[in-house]
Order: sequence, then structure tokens, then C-alpha cells
Amino acid sequence: MITEYRTFLNPKKVYIPLTDIDSKIANVSVEEGDRVLVGQIVAYKFKGKDKTPVLSTVSGTVVGFVEKLDRYAKIVDHIIIENDLLMETIELTNYKDKLAVSQDRNFIHNVTTYSENISTAQVRTALKGLGIQKVTVDGLFTDIKFKGQTEHIVVNAIFTNEPFISTDYEAIIHNAEAIADGICLLGIGAGAKTLTVIVDKYMPAEALDELGKAIVDKNIELISINVKIIKSWDYKIIQKLVKHNLSLNLLDDGVLYTSVHAALMVHDAIRKGIPVTSRQVAITGDGLKVNAVYDVRIGTLFSDLVEDLEGYHEVENMNLHIGSFLTGIQLDNDDFAITQSVDSINVSEYREVEEDVCIKCGDCNDICPAGILPQNIMDAELRSVNSRIVELDTHLCVECGLCTYVCPSKINVLEWVRRAKRRVG
Ligand code: SF4
Ligand code: SF4
Repeated sequence: MITEYRTFLNPKKVYIPLTDIDSKIANVSVEEGDRVLVGQIVAYKFKGKDKTPVLSTVSGTVVGFVEKLDRYAKIVDHIIIENDLLMETIELTNYKDKLAVSQDRNFIHNVTTYSENISTAQVRTALKGLGIQKVTVDGLFTDIKFKGQTEHIVVNAIFTNEPFISTDYEAIIHNAEAIADGICLLGIGAGAKTLTVIVDKYMPAEALDELGKAIVDKNIELISINVKIIKSWDYKIIQKLVKHNLSLNLLDDGVLYTSVHAALMVHDAIRKGIPVTSRQVAITGDGLKVNAVYDVRIGTLFSDLVEDLEGYHEVENMNLHIGSFLTGIQLDNDDFAITQSVDSINVSEYREVEEDVCIKCGDCNDICPAGILPQNIMDAELRSVNSRIVELDTHLCVECGLCTYVCPSKINVLEWVRRAKRRVG
């Protein structure tokens, strides 16, 4: 259970992956021994022609490059930067509209900002230049990208990470105006028709009040739901917006789906010139002596956070999970760096789940947001009937894991669907 809020913003070294699951090639722009500043581009990573900058999250010296495990369980090149603790940031002259002085978040240099009026092109350039694309994690969330026509911006103020829910309502109370502005900026960047923020019906009154006041004149619709009753609530809301079954990537449906933290980062980047150098991560699980929500410097090793949390309990089979239990990634090692796509980590004792037989209740079929029939797919996979797997549109599965979540027999239905996909893929 989360009992504390902590910060870990000054690691001795940061390890920044040069590539990721999408962008597999990088061009490095610095050498060992170079001094770098916060927000300085240390490399560009490429996905086809799409080029994304990799930024330093501290000021200090490049002390080397190393191949190590990343948060997607892949071995990739990382740059190692020794932190001089000065947090000297680059002056973002490219994005200059008016000069402002910011003492926020330990930044000791002047930074530059955009004033109120900003164009779609400026939003896109600023977000790309500051490397803000993956500030949430797996599941239904999308990257912060504007792909073709992005008609709907949907922002989640609930932070569900099944089966636990971690919510930092303090951040909403203190930053409601900035969050609302971030949502509007995303809308401008996308040229969106609708802006929506989803809240839990039982969110604390003060947080709801602040958010309500901040969005009142901004054309942002607030949808309040009871997360304990409504299963797959975000799927249902988004399906209603787009009026059809959802794709593997919501950007293809014209939806950018992100969190209030991401909206805050967008505001910080565009209005204050602050690149994404830290993020909030919920660290939970009975494997750790202390559970906490951290404001952590990107590039910090998870093993450093574990030390800060007083280490592990003595548990025989440890299970380390990044992201949602249903769709996240499992790692067998804590020697990986926090990136902007890590929002939660759980370390728990591994417990075998006893599966029962399928009772053909149809719950998995009913809940599937892709409109396919996971029970039937599982059946076809069990019988190895390729033609039936294809006929059932298995490729449309968005790997949300809801079929597994609702199954009363505790069957990992998603895993069967994945196998079926691989069989015919
Ligand atoms: S994981 Fe299950 S519920 Fe989700 S889209 Fe795939 S088949 Fe449907
Ligand atoms: S929810 Fe589970 S028990 Fe029910 S039909 Fe699907 S796989 Fe079978």
C-alpha cells in the first residue's frame, strides 16, 4: 500500500536509453567527457523517417555508454551522465516568444516560454523538440503524437493501474489550471474537436472543485464515473466518442488518450520551456519494505529507488512488473532506468493462480472493446484451427487484458488470444 510521497531528483548518475520499443536506431551527438545541460539533445532516435530527440535530464558529464536492460526487457545502448547537481538547463531559444524566469523544479537558469496565443505548428514543434511523446505507459494510453486527424483529446485523471488504484490528487489540487491549459494545448496541437477529462465520482471534493474551476471556460467536458462499478470505463467513453470499435492504437481512431500528468508536462514544456526530466512513478507491492509515489529524475536506476525504499522483504519468488498488471511488462532484474514511459512498478511475491475450466459464461466476449470474441478465439487456438482464428478477426485484439480481468475461471484469456495472433500472424 502506498504510504508515502517521496522525491528522488538527484541521482549520482542517470542512464538514458538511446532507443526504445518503437525507435530502434539512434545517432549520438555527444562524446565521453562532454559536459551536457538539462534538456540538451544527446542523441536522436529514429523510427523510419520519424526523428525524436533524446534529452539529458541532468547537467553533468558524459561518462560512458553501456548496453543494459531497458524497461521493455530489451538490451539497448544507454548513455551514462554523471550528475553535477547544478541542474543547469539549456536556454530554449528555438521556442522563444517571451522571456520568463523560472525557479520551478530546481531550474536555476532563465527559461523561455510561449505566451497565450500559440499555433498548432508551434505546439507540435515545441513538444517534439522537448521530447515529449511517451509520458504515459502501456495499455490504452497513446503517445503524445498527432497522427493524421486527431479529433478527440481524452485525459485520464484517475490513474488506474489494476488491480490497485494509485492517485495523486495533490498534484491536481495544486496544478489544476496548468493541467487544464495542457489539455487545451494538446487540443490546439491536434486541431481536436472535443476535449474530455475523466474523473472518478469519488475523487476528493477539493481536487474536483479545483479541476472544475480550471476547465469551466475552456470547453473541456468532464465525465465522472464510478470506477468500482463500471468495468473498462475508459474504453466505453472512448468508444462512444468515436462511434466504432477501437483499434490497436487509438491514434488511428483519431483519439489521443493521456493522463493529467502528461497534460501538466505539456503545459510546463510550452509555457515554461521545461523539458520532461522527471516524472511521477507509483511503486507498490509486498516485496518492498516501503511503498511510495515518487517524483523521480528520468534516468534514475530502479535499484537506487529500491535502496531508498529500504530494500526488499525476504521473498522467495519475486515478481517485478512495470505498468498495468494486465498488459504491462515483467522483468527479472531491477537494474533498469526509469524512463518517461514508466508510471508504476510493482514488486510482489509470485503467487500461482489456479485456473478453472471455461464455463462459457461469455463475460470475456461481452467486455471486449475490439468487438471480437476472445472465448471463441481461445477455443480455436486450443484446437489449432487457423482458418477460424482468421475468421474471428483475432488481429483486431488491442491487448487490453479485459478478457482476462473479467474471467471468473481466472483464465489468462489474453495469453490465448496472443498465441492465436502469433499462430496466424
Ligand atoms: S485483450 Fe481480450 S478483451 Fe482486450 S481486445 Fe483483446 S480479446 Fe478483446
Ligand atoms: S470469461 Fe472465462 S469462463 Fe467466461 S467464457 Fe470467457 S474464458 Fe470462459
